[in-house]
Amino acid sequence: MNKSFDIGLEQLTGTAGVSMGNSVSTKYAGDGTEAAVPDRLRGTFFLETFGCQMNDHDSEKVAGVLLSRGYRQVESPESASLVLYNTCSIREKAAQKVFSRLGEFRVKQNEGRIIGVLGCVAQQEGEDIFERAPWVSLVCGAASYRKLPELLARVEAGNQRVTGLDTDTDETFETEMTRRDNPWRAYLTIIEGCDKACSYCVVPYTRGPERSRASDAILREVRQLAELGYSEVQLLGQTVNSYKDPTTRGMRFSELLLAVADEPGIRRVRFTTSHPSDFTRDIVDALDAQTKLCNHVHLPVQSGSTRVLRAMQRTYSREEYLEKIALIRSAKRPISITTDIIVGFPGETEEDLRETLSLLDAVQYDGIFSFKYSPRPHTPSLAMSDIISEEEKSRRLAVLQEKQREIQTKKYSALVGETFELLVGGKSRRENQWSGHTSCHRVINFSSQEPALLGKYVQVRVTGATPNCLVGEQAP
Ligand code: SAM
Ligand code: SF4
Repeated sequence: MNKSFDIGLEQLTGTAGVSMGNSVSTKYAGDGTEAAVPDRLRGTFFLETFGCQMNDHDSEKVAGVLLSRGYRQVESPESASLVLYNTCSIREKAAQKVFSRLGEFRVKQNEGRIIGVLGCVAQQEGEDIFERAPWVSLVCGAASYRKLPELLARVEAGNQRVTGLDTDTDETFETEMTRRDNPWRAYLTIIEGCDKACSYCVVPYTRGPERSRASDAILREVRQLAELGYSEVQLLGQTVNSYKDPTTRGMRFSELLLAVADEPGIRRVRFTTSHPSDFTRDIVDALDAQTKLCNHVHLPVQSGSTRVLRAMQRTYSREEYLEKIALIRSAKRPISITTDIIVGFPGETEEDLRETLSLLDAVQYDGIFSFKYSPRPHTPSLAMSDIISEEEKSRRLAVLQEKQREIQTKKYSALVGETFELLVGGKSRRENQWSGHTSCHRVINFSSQEPALLGKYVQVRVTGATPNCLVGEQAP
């Protein structure tokens, strides 16, 4: 993966261990025997997250639910009585990781811990997880999180095989409390699930149908976030711009963007991931009207070949995608554009790959996330013939990434001498070294003599560039 852009995969600064008191009464019988968890571990949880920002944010909400039930968060599974894995199954490797984590508990299964699997692998594998790892007591898919408090209560009461696997809900996952990992930048899911049907993608199966959250609930939460000192919000959804306000207000996505930006205290609004088919003129008009809307659009293309896009059931052609790019480029200020690309989709030819490479030339992306096609259960592409070998997929990925490296080398070196406003989010161990994000979502590592910059907005002049990294110094 070419990761010059940071799209939320960074390690956030943790505030783990915040206790809300300890009123948990748990019957620790995860393996069917009486509890063996020492008293000092009671009411503690460990939560590890795999995958995308939506999973990161779901985990923040799950942590909120647990903290409000009196649990305390700890930093290792060894010091927890409840161990949860919030999983990702978008590619096979991610799903395998979870089973290797669960395997670590095979030898420890008499210690009385409760083990739970949440998220996409939970939804995908369902009750089979109990067969593969009988020491697991809770399996809950992302579409059932609104039932989590009830499911946890059953686990706490000693039930050993508790599942939440429904996807037939029209509700979103609302919590009383969300324990956010980052004190300045907040994620906020505005639409859950997905109604598109890309032939390679397991998300519609694991996350269920599309459900948009009420605009008044979103705006209320943004207001609370601003009061708590958050200045940047990132609106999330698998297809964030397909948002349809379920209230009588009927706000369009672009109207919601403007309303969020209008909340006092909010300085930056991001949104990801946009689907090309739903990317309309009014979103660009909103970007033009309000500079608090960040100048970055993540617009996954997946392939530059219309033939492959059709096989992927992506609902647009190469030409239609390029029209959307032209729309974004017509904005009054420069907008960074990033994308996702899959290589080695069944039947992809050398000519198809050439078309993807020529699309990179045409668009001049600021960053790409590139993946080898990974066959997933429950997806139509599983049945397709003309499978590309792993070796060939790796070769194509390398060709693609080399092309993008050349583009980025030019783009990044052209930024030397420019000044950007950064929200400072990290401090290096090296003295006077900091890092932050631009509005266009680039990370810049910079030097400053100032002692306390975390969470502040500063001007930084770029002094050097590599294809994946910018360095700079604080501007006076
Ligand atoms: N909803 C977003 C969209 O439509 O572009 C993407 C969500 S998905 C979590 C993130 C990315 O994972 C996709 O854009 C795609 O490039 C990649 N992806 C999804 N399924 C994949 C698969 N089976 N093999 C390889 N990459 C995959
Ligand atoms: Fe998956 Fe396609 Fe939905 Fe994105 S739009 S989540 S790639 S099905």
